[in-house]
Amino acid sequence: MRKIVIAGNWKMNMTPAQTKKFITELAPMVAGLDKCDIVLCVPFVDIATAIEAAAGTNIKIGAENVHFAESGAYTGEISAAMLSEIGTEYVIVGHSERRQYFGETDTTVNLRTKAALAAGLKVILCLGEVKEERLAGITDEVVAMQTKLDLAGISVEELKNVIIAYEPVWAIGTGLTATPEQADETCGVIRKTIASLYGDEAAEAITIQYGGSMNDQNAAELLSKVNVDGGLIGGASLKTDKFTAIVKAANA
Ligand code: PEP
Repeated sequence: MRKIVIAGNWKMNMTPAQTKKFITELAPMVAGLDKCDIVLCVPFVDIATAIEAAAGTNIKIGAENVHFAESGAYTGEISAAMLSEIGTEYVIVGHSERRQYFGETDTTVNLRTKAALAAGLKVILCLGEVKEERLAGITDEVVAMQTKLDLAGISVEELKNVIIAYEPVWAIGTGLTATPEQADETCGVIRKTIASLYGDEAAEAITIQYGGSMNDQNAAELLSKVNVDGGLIGGASLKTDKFTAIVKAANA
């Protein structure tokens, strides 16, 4: 049985005060919905507040990025040790917005993943094709290559703390969603790539989420697919009712 993980990605939304209010409202709504792990990945300045507000609940807290160096002259960056010392459990790495707007490459995604794992964080590693690649029929090759590059040098033991989020870039924040069949098929390609790198047991065990305009209306169908082990949710994670509905779909 693979772990189902429903994770929110708040992006650049919510102040600490809004964070406290949101989690205080959400906690009773998702209490007891324990068939999936529930994670909120929040802006750096909200993490401490989020951890405090989520204490004693089934909500876990993550960051949205991490730098790969242990420390040093990297103005504006945050290290894995800084995150883990304050109790952060998860971190998103390689989100397409980081790749698109902040020059992240598979090389830096790989370095960030390694740094996060070394500090004991669980990584939600994002990858996925852009629209032109889907239209050109090379989605499978693209996600297989990203999987290989992003996981280079990561051991089978370390892989236990990695979740892959398959996020077709054309579906993120656009209201366009991959069909459940597309999501299932491409998550399946990623799983096969993991099998080729780490063996069947690791491939069967790894959680592979779908992300891209997942919401309260389409979550149940997407989550019903055999290769889809949860979701990474942007827009719909900013509303307690919509996020709860997705968590409930994962618990059905
Ligand atoms: C995301 O930010 O990872 C995401 C999937 O966003 P949205 O759900 O808004 O498409």
